[in-house]
Amino acid sequence: MSDLTADCPLQCLASVLPRVIYAALETGLGNPAATVGDVVALCEQGKLTELPNISYGRLGRIRFYLLVLGLLEPEYGESRWPNRRDQIVVVHGEGCLGGEGDPG
Ligand SMILES: [Zn+2]
Repeated sequence: MSDLTADCPLQCLASVLPRVIYAALETGLGNPAATVGDVVALCEQGKLTELPNISYGRLGRIRFYLLVLGLLEPEYGESRWPNRRDQIVVVHGEGCLGGEGDPG
């Protein structure tokens, strides 16, 4: 079991995020080749809520998971959020080389 990386396809977040939030992200990005890194970048740029169906409440949930997974630097106050890493099970999507298998 390995962690999510920025290179993971968006699909890998499906195992982590609540289903409705993942669906909103997938639809909002509208890019079959989108990666976890794209979500992290939008988060860092404060642009995630510009996507349809991503409210500030959902942004908070997304930030929480990205932070716990170590993909995002915590902003003020967030570093005190409880670390639930051991409770999050990452299942890499099909077509992801980050999980298992050696590409070369
Ligand atoms: Zn992956």
